[in-house]
Amino acid sequence: MSLTKIVDRIRTAQSKFNIFTSHITTPPLATASKGGPLSNRTAAIKDNIVTKDFPTTCASNILKDYTSPFDATVVSLLKDAGAVTIGKTNLDEFGMGSLGMHTIFNPVKNPLNTDWCIGGSSSGSAAAVASGVADFSLGTDTGGSVRLPSAYSSIIGFKPSYGRISRWGVVAFAQSLDTVGIMARDIDTVAKVYDVLDKYDRRDPTSLSQNLRDELEKKASRMSRTKPNIGIPQEFIQGELSPEIKESFLKYIDSLLQKGYDIYPVSIPSIKDALSVYYTLAPAEAASNLARYDGVRYGTKDPETADIVDDKFFNAARSNFGPEVKNRIILGNYNLCSDGYKNNFIKAQKLRVQMINQFDRLFPFENVLTRNKPVEDIDIIICPTNLMPPPLTKSVSQTEKKNPLHEYMNDIYTIPMSLAGLPTISFPLSSGKPWGVQIATQYGNDKALLDFVKANS
Ligand code: GLN
Repeated sequence: MSLTKIVDRIRTAQSKFNIFTSHITTPPLATASKGGPLSNRTAAIKDNIVTKDFPTTCASNILKDYTSPFDATVVSLLKDAGAVTIGKTNLDEFGMGSLGMHTIFNPVKNPLNTDWCIGGSSSGSAAAVASGVADFSLGTDTGGSVRLPSAYSSIIGFKPSYGRISRWGVVAFAQSLDTVGIMARDIDTVAKVYDVLDKYDRRDPTSLSQNLRDELEKKASRMSRTKPNIGIPQEFIQGELSPEIKESFLKYIDSLLQKGYDIYPVSIPSIKDALSVYYTLAPAEAASNLARYDGVRYGTKDPETADIVDDKFFNAARSNFGPEVKNRIILGNYNLCSDGYKNNFIKAQKLRVQMINQFDRLFPFENVLTRNKPVEDIDIIICPTNLMPPPLTKSVSQTEKKNPLHEYMNDIYTIPMSLAGLPTISFPLSSGKPWGVQIATQYGNDKALLDFVKANS
């Protein structure tokens, strides 16, 4: 496709769906591709991943004038592989949200149906792929932010194992959970991009070491039994699951049975605690990470208080955060203060470990991080991605204003795998429908997971 045609498509998509926070299209496209596995494939990058060619705003007033002097590792790897970045995508501020509504820009519209929420927080990355304007996009997934908008816009969203893809240059939200994820319309593109990004990075202290990568490479064959055993955690099949999603899900299960897979009910009792654990731990980590936006090291300075004036200096800069980010800072700091720490934070950490142990029992090989011994023989876990179809945009702001818990509930199916760091893919159950199925497997076994989805989506 010619350069002008691509640029025209980007402009049209932007005016319809508010996908990008900035889109300086001509220079990056003009200096396009050197060849490589992603030669001339167009990429859209979530605007909490730093780039030299575009500003990085995190959809926040506090960073609205910020441009990074360097590219994140993932951005450099994509460039080296020949991909062409067409813009930075709109998001819930700092990645905090499930609906794509907490942004200083106009909220992203869902290309499937503009009356529906697109989901968050990687809302622009989902819309870039769903509208066809990018071949693939990068998002970040801390508790579901790649998988939920993928389900709501009927595309594929992959959250790799924690530590597989470098976080260097990814603006931290909750660093024990943050992962970079890949969104595309077909699984082959997802796998190709993953191949380019799945590298050890010495600049990211949480990057999975080369030794463990080598060990996993050998173990991965354990999953390659021709017919992996499939488990459905009973905790995921809830009364609240919408009837149309349940029907699609059961049809999919039926198709797997017809193909000869063995499917078993399994139990991970800690799943019931997942939302509370996540919304205790993630805000606590966020409160610490966001301390750097003080108007000195990072963040917008207030011209009125450009120097320290009594106690005003700090407060003025910090007031540039939006309301949801402020909620998280307050909640996070509360849970780090003495009573909250003992009563909530430590308990949540313990419950998280309990959940990881329960997941580890299921899989037939050892988790290389925990070294828990396998007990059962389930290779793959399956569950829906979303409980309900996306809410209508017009009804959202009113409901959320009353109680943010309504928004948090959207993550109920995605958060357990985030807490356990497991590789998980969401893909559409019926083309054009705003819901998906998630497939997850043991930590580190990402390639086998991609192969399973290639054969069964
Ligand atoms: N919706 C969740 C939250 O607001 C997850 C966000 C994410 O994965 N970045 O914390």
